[in-house]
Amino acid sequence: MTRIFSGVKPTGHLTLGNYLGAVRRWVEVDQHRGEALFSVVDLHALTVEHDPARVRRLSRQAATLLLASGLDPEVCTLFVQSHVDEHARLSYLLECTATDGELRRMIQYKEKSVRAREAGQGVRLSLLTYPVLMAADILAYGADEVPVGEDQTQHVELTRDLAVRFNQRYGHTFTVPKATRPEVAARVMDLQDPSSKMGKSHENGAGIVYLLDDADTVRRKVMRAVTDSGREVEYDRDAKPGVANLLDLMAAATGGDPEELAGAYASYGALKKDTADAVVELLRPVRERHAELAADPGFVDRVLKEGAERARGTARPLVDRAYRAIGL
Ligand code: ADP
Repeated sequence: MTRIFSGVKPTGHLTLGNYLGAVRRWVEVDQHRGEALFSVVDLHALTVEHDPARVRRLSRQAATLLLASGLDPEVCTLFVQSHVDEHARLSYLLECTATDGELRRMIQYKEKSVRAREAGQGVRLSLLTYPVLMAADILAYGADEVPVGEDQTQHVELTRDLAVRFNQRYGHTFTVPKATRPEVAARVMDLQDPSSKMGKSHENGAGIVYLLDDADTVRRKVMRAVTDSGREVEYDRDAKPGVANLLDLMAAATGGDPEELAGAYASYGALKKDTADAVVELLRPVRERHAELAADPGFVDRVLKEGAERARGTARPLVDRAYRAIGL
């Protein structure tokens, strides 16, 4: 059976980018396709300045939102990364397999280390080794597939390289995974800055739609989205990135095709209004279900405890095997 692993970092509130780029597909497709594991990867939230209480709160909220989005603990495994020691155990072995050169080449490291330096903060060593921990997250479960947004493909490539290298050096141990991507809205851009992705840890919340934003807030953010010069609604990612992003959002929310949708609009205003309505309707059931689940913390606790036990049961024998293979 195909084994699938993916995760979300509790570095901020979950966004529409997380939902359309990842979570929706986990819910609609991946959890039904094989043996699927989804994790709130809280160790990854410690790679930049963080507030301990906030990380704990956001981990809980992310897990609750994943359930609210439709992950079903009866058919998939949902757990918090730090509840399963195997991730950190395996990460060390993979650090002994990776080189600093290949980690320094990672685009996210380059971007985030510049930001940390600009903010006058030291660059945490874990920011450099983060893709190694991510590789451990995936390889510890023998995952075949990793459904991620486009921004994560480079990290999955590294995971493949490390798995192949480890297998060649120490004997076949790891499944070599591959990244899979949703067909639409693989990359949702910031509404205020369509050149950068809608990321939950960005400072400027005005261009980011959070899954828990109320309807008025969603409408306001979409109506204030930056558009492009000219008046024609055209689907052109290079010349009209703001309009293209709205068309992509509209298409992803309604199931249409962005180029066809472009022909249906005579003005940016009309496109924005319909996009706002579509996003509000898309998120309404998630928000409602989140409120119900947040009122029942015992249920979420149980799901996460059982999820961690199941995850541990899968990862432990594989990581033990890797320890033996490498000479320990
Ligand atoms: P973030 O960048 O918001 O911190 P994570 O690293 O937690 O996101 O990623 C969770 C999943 O959401 C990943 O599969 C990632 O590719 C996807 N994702 C994050 N932001 C976007 C976006 N703007 N568009 C599409 N997918 C995204």
